[in-house]
Amino acid sequence: MGLPSKKLTKSSKRRRASHFALRPVAITKCTKCKKPVRPHHVCQFCGTYAGREVIKIKSKLDKKKKKKKEEKDRTKEEERKNKKK
Ligand SMILES: [Zn+2]
Repeated sequence: MGLPSKKLTKSSKRRRASHFALRPVAITKCTKCKKPVRPHHVCQFCGTYAGREVIKIKSKLDKKKKKKKEEKDRTKEEERKNKKK
């Protein structure tokens, strides 16, 4: 089995551990929607980067509508199956 060849002193351990602390995440404001965004990242809320829309983001309302539609379709299919029987 591999073993450490030399004892790690307190000071060497602590010196290494001096870089383990977590730093707070840098946050800036989105130029379009003013929501908190990480610098050099696309805004998750409106999909803009450097003032232009990079990705299209589906709003929560659209998602809800889609879910409702899917549920409707499902119930219709079940009704059809029941009629066949
Ligand atoms: Zn934004």
